[in-house]
Amino acid sequence: MAAAEKTFVMLKPDCIKRGLVGEVISRIERKGYRITNAKMMWLDEDLLRVHYAHLADKPFFPEILSYMMSGPVLAMIVEGENAVTGVRILMGATKFEEAAAGTIRGDFAMSTGENIIHGSDSPENAEAEIKRFFG
Ligand code: UDP
Ligand code: MG
Repeated sequence: MAAAEKTFVMLKPDCIKRGLVGEVISRIERKGYRITNAKMMWLDEDLLRVHYAHLADKPFFPEILSYMMSGPVLAMIVEGENAVTGVRILMGATKFEEAAAGTIRGDFAMSTGENIIHGSDSPENAEAEIKRFFG
């Protein structure tokens, strides 16, 4: 069996408010990945400015900050073969109107801003994000 890969997954405030935590975790587990660490967190602006630094100059950046601080998130480490790419496939496209049916965002997201789930987009970012959120 190939070496397990780790990725960082975060269930965003709308996922928790809408009661979709179990549904989303089930999809990740049914695919065959394991949740090896998890914690509920209220994020602060300093952490979010680092986490979303690639979007700092976008007009919607203030909205991302306020949305991500509107409730707790569930931060998780997810492990399994090809976990980084595999979780991104389960998530679906960033833009909610492009997210395919059968994906988490395609089935549940009603806007691009409030789109249920974060997953690392590369193994390098996964490592940095796991450090950022789990130390
Ligand atoms: N986002 C947004 N509008 C956009 C692009 C992104 O509100 O046009 C938000 C959305 O919540 C997204 C997050 O910013 O999940 C991070 O954007 P990124 O491009 O990293 O997408 P992701 O990796 O989450 O698919
Ligand atoms: Mg991203």
